[in-house]
Amino acid sequence: MKELEIVIGLEVHVQLGTESKIFCSCSTKFQSLPNTNICPVCCGYPGVLPVFNKRALELAVRACLAMQCKINKKIYFERKNYFYPDLPKNYQISQYKKPLGEEGFLELPTGKKIKIERIHLEEDAGKLIHKESHSLADFNRSGIALLEIVSCPDIGSPQEAFDYLGYLKLFLQYIGVSNCDMEKGSLRCDANISLKKKEAKELGVKTELKNMNSFRGVKDALEYEVKRQESRIQKGEEIFQETRLWDVDKQKTVAMRTKEEARDYRYFPEPDLLDFFVSDEFINEEKKFIKESPCQKRKRFLAEYGLSEKETEILIANLKMADFFEQAVKFYPKPREISNWLIGPFLELLNSFSDKTPPSKVSGGSTCARLCPQGYEGIPMDKFKAVKITPANFSKIVILFSQKKINNLAAKKVLSLSIATNRDIDEIIEKEELLQVSSKEELISFVEEVIRDNPKPVKEYLNGKLPAIMFLIGQVMKKTKGTANPQVVKEMIEKSFKSRQ
Ligand SMILES: [Zn+2]
Repeated sequence: MKELEIVIGLEVHVQLGTESKIFCSCSTKFQSLPNTNICPVCCGYPGVLPVFNKRALELAVRACLAMQCKINKKIYFERKNYFYPDLPKNYQISQYKKPLGEEGFLELPTGKKIKIERIHLEEDAGKLIHKESHSLADFNRSGIALLEIVSCPDIGSPQEAFDYLGYLKLFLQYIGVSNCDMEKGSLRCDANISLKKKEAKELGVKTELKNMNSFRGVKDALEYEVKRQESRIQKGEEIFQETRLWDVDKQKTVAMRTKEEARDYRYFPEPDLLDFFVSDEFINEEKKFIKESPCQKRKRFLAEYGLSEKETEILIANLKMADFFEQAVKFYPKPREISNWLIGPFLELLNSFSDKTPPSKVSGGSTCARLCPQGYEGIPMDKFKAVKITPANFSKIVILFSQKKINNLAAKKVLSLSIATNRDIDEIIEKEELLQVSSKEELISFVEEVIRDNPKPVKEYLNGKLPAIMFLIGQVMKKTKGTANPQVVKEMIEKSFKSRQ
């Protein structure tokens, strides 16, 4: 596609991390029984009055600051009127003419700044569950505080949209604004996409894409839409301004309806809420939460620790992980070794945590590739809650391994026994008899026994099938309960064979 340029803008809704809803005191707890977190306010009974949740404003201001937005200090809400079965009030309280924040940007690792057009506060609607013959309505989500973050049409490819989402999520997680958990519906994304001739000043006709349930889905839907629009343009066919739904099973977008215009919603100022004013003091309080951005951290990690981009992205994908890494490095200034053990066995164990059961055994194989296919998924922030091991104790395990006092298997075992308990490392090693045995005197009887009892692999090895030695080493490891130094064992077996030849 040489002469056409892709123009993408994203509209992201994130659920603010408040305990209660934006205009009433109902809980925001996820997975409550349907219609248990509701009251006359969020169900829009006549005569009720909304009360604005201060916490929602704090988090929203914080998000605006993190994205360098200009903050409109006078805040007022407007009613967005429409009918839908998941909206009992027939209107949504939102911000329209004057959003909370405007003209910000989000920087990507490439250095490109995606401009943020607006960030505004609004309430969520309920949820419809469609059955075969009927639909059910759950209003637990009605009135949950949302932040709508609208980017300018600055995004130039589906991959860039994917990167933008990944970093937006990290930005918000770092400052504690939202958990951005797409699975729990805390982050939703709609995309606008159009194509235009490179030299054209005006944007092409855009379509709006909805119903993408993952970052991957957003990217796939956009890629599909690029191809669809491109082929229509090349055939001289018209592109309609419409909303299209992403069908993940069919991997295609389908036309849903023509897009509404703002005037269809009959916005007008919300009469039940007075204007609010944000003081400089209030803003300065929130500034305290804006620290190093994920992008800055990425740059610093690459420069300071000499890690690869992939390692860095996995570490920074979770702020707690990144902090843990930096603290552990203070106790053992070998960043690569610390990072290997964190990204490998540590993540693997963490990934095996269910919310209730800490890990009890070591499993084989590294899972970090699955955990972080693109570097942004990382591990859910809350999984770290179960981690009890201190960075000091963690680095101690890495040190003992590097000094060959414990072997790889033993180190993993110590880690698995201490990660959720922070048990004393020395005590575990002593109790479980995990100290690595490198002394030939101690190992010789095991080596001789294994050679004597396994004539077949011995013969294979002597006939030139060298990998057969792995089986013999494995047998010695088994007999020594995994404590033998495998390198020493290998040398001893080889030496014994040499003397036979
Ligand atoms: Zn309520």
